[in-house]
Amino acid sequence: MAARILNGTKIRDTIMGELAEQIRGLKAAGITPGLAAVLVGENPASQIYVRSKVKTCESLGLHSEKIELPADTSTEQLLQLVHDLNHRDEIDGILVQLPLPPQVDSKTVLEAVSPAKDVDGFHPVNIGNLVSGRLGLVPCTPAGIIEILRRSGVAIEGARAVVIGRSDIVGKPVAMLLLHNHSTVTICHSKTRDLPAVAREGDILVAAMGKAAFVTGEFIKPGATVIDVGINRLTTEEEVRRIFHDPAAPLEKLRSKGSVLVGDVQPEDVQEKAGAYTPVPGGVGPLTIAMLMTNTVRAAKLRRGIHWTQPVGH
Ligand code: NAD
Repeated sequence: MAARILNGTKIRDTIMGELAEQIRGLKAAGITPGLAAVLVGENPASQIYVRSKVKTCESLGLHSEKIELPADTSTEQLLQLVHDLNHRDEIDGILVQLPLPPQVDSKTVLEAVSPAKDVDGFHPVNIGNLVSGRLGLVPCTPAGIIEILRRSGVAIEGARAVVIGRSDIVGKPVAMLLLHNHSTVTICHSKTRDLPAVAREGDILVAAMGKAAFVTGEFIKPGATVIDVGINRLTTEEEVRRIFHDPAAPLEKLRSKGSVLVGDVQPEDVQEKAGAYTPVPGGVGPLTIAMLMTNTVRAAKLRRGIHWTQPVGH
């Protein structure tokens, strides 16, 4: 039987529809959740991300502010800005777009964001809340992965889940969320011995290592649900030919668009072996902004003592 495609774009649209309704309710009560996005320097990818975050806020009727600072901004200047945003009542969420320029002490800046406004969920207080199963703001991509699994009816409770990658942004928090959802979780990394054999134990396999098509058929338990977090851009014919068994269509795309996106999972193998999988693009990616919006609304409620109905992953 053909593997089921877990369509992240559709799930994102559903979440956005639900959020729009919640925002209407909050606005009727005189509350407009607000997000401040801080962009330092002129990194083109960061500019695109911030623009699309602000645009999504606007489409939902959230208040948003884009704060652009020059590339030579100092740590102290950023700390002052974060301090001001922490104290502004119309701002519920603060997002400092990474990467910051090298002269800026990123950790210090991220730790200066009030945990109550930390919509990226990177502050140590929110990491502590996540680990100990307390109400808090959860990192967006991992929260989005749980939404995909739940809303697609994938059984998480009791499943063997294998996460490849142990970053603070994806691997560790998604492992923690799977654990809170009662999976038996294994976290793999670059030093894991016999990675394919460990990965094959996963009823749920999450690939988040940032290596194009690294997870091939031998990593996938037949019928498993495979979540591909990776975003890798192929720009040469050689790369495309190395990765795809049948390179005709991707080569065509390379010629017309200049690049081909692939995840961390080999896209042909996963169709053949998995029971369900997230495609790249159109899988995990669309959920990340949706969860940022969700976190902004949650932060607005949390600060005003309005309870959430269902905290993600707890
Ligand atoms: P990272 O580089 O911080 O972490 C990668 C992790 O993978 C590390 O823990 C490392 O130990 C592990 N790893 C690396 N090589 C490995 C190997 N050969 N075998 C086993 N483990 C290995 O990356 P990240 O920030 O966690 O991102 C991972 C990927 O997800 C990237 O492609 C990134 O672009 C993508 N990403 C996507 C979204 C989204 O919205 N879809 C969000 C964040 C990250």
